[in-house]
Amino acid sequence: MKAVVLEGPGLISVKDVPEPVGKDGWAIIRIKAAGICGSDVNAYKGKGQVLHYPLILGHEVSGEIVECSTRSGFVPGDRVMVEPYLPCGSCYACSLGRTNCCEQLRVLGVQTDGAMSEYILHPEGLLHRLPGSVSFVNATVAEPLTIAMHGIHRIGLKTGEHVAIIGAGTIGILSALYVLYKGGVPILIDPLEKRLAVGKGLGVPHTVDPVDAEDAVRSITGGRGAEVVLEISGSLEGVKNTVRLASYCGRVSLTGWPSADPEFNTAMVTRKELTIYGSRNSAREFPEALDLIAGDIIDIKPLISKVVPFDELPGVIESIAENPTSTIKVIGKM
Ligand SMILES: [Zn+2]
Ligand SMILES: [Zn+2]
Repeated sequence: MKAVVLEGPGLISVKDVPEPVGKDGWAIIRIKAAGICGSDVNAYKGKGQVLHYPLILGHEVSGEIVECSTRSGFVPGDRVMVEPYLPCGSCYACSLGRTNCCEQLRVLGVQTDGAMSEYILHPEGLLHRLPGSVSFVNATVAEPLTIAMHGIHRIGLKTGEHVAIIGAGTIGILSALYVLYKGGVPILIDPLEKRLAVGKGLGVPHTVDPVDAEDAVRSITGGRGAEVVLEISGSLEGVKNTVRLASYCGRVSLTGWPSADPEFNTAMVTRKELTIYGSRNSAREFPEALDLIAGDIIDIKPLISKVVPFDELPGVIESIAENPTSTIKVIGKM
């Protein structure tokens, strides 16, 4: 079968690889759509947490079941979304049900082969039925949506709270939309005007450049600062700014992955008595994410910059690596 294979940093192509062989409790899925994530691009650049080469990329995928057990609750032909985080099931985090931060977590396309391929073998318990109205392409956006939702679930958003969101890529914009849905007031922060414009077009009331963020947040919140700050960008400057944008007694969630140790003003954490949350991947958020997309409650369509044929995925990953701000979400269709 065909798969998008990374053979080393900068070495990516569509290759012929062996088809998966069925095993008990695991389903075989024919992949229908696969989104390109920043982590796929980072892996291509040799920057990610890739454990081995060759590696099949891709973790934002939907498809159709080809083979499954009778006790899975699925039948061949069912349309499903793949939850791409494989926990060990026996570590401390797993024992708490927080499988998203399992000590041995394997994420498809990062620590283990991914799903940009014609077929994958996947645990039946990590598949989610697509609501009837959701296309395979649109369903793939459920994965980054769950990551956005998870940060907001971690900080426990209350109605009317201001949420400063640092970074307006896919997860940042989706975070703003989920905050709106939950009755909060998102303030989306990004240096790229065209990304802010996408947020604005989707009803985000406040969009600001990072240079003006501190003043803007202060004026929007009547001088208080944001009760909640979500750091999505992973930039060193973004992490540093979280404590400045937060109100006294505020909560900060860190979702982005900085490439180095950021400067972090812990005196300000103490003075404001901030609560800092880490937020990694997602846990149990897929069904709600798919329902929000199906009901058009969260309109993900403006985030999809283009849909390309499967064979073009390696070329698109190369071009995003060269020009990371040219697109928001690109999805390959099988
Ligand atoms: Zn992703
Ligand atoms: Zn575990």
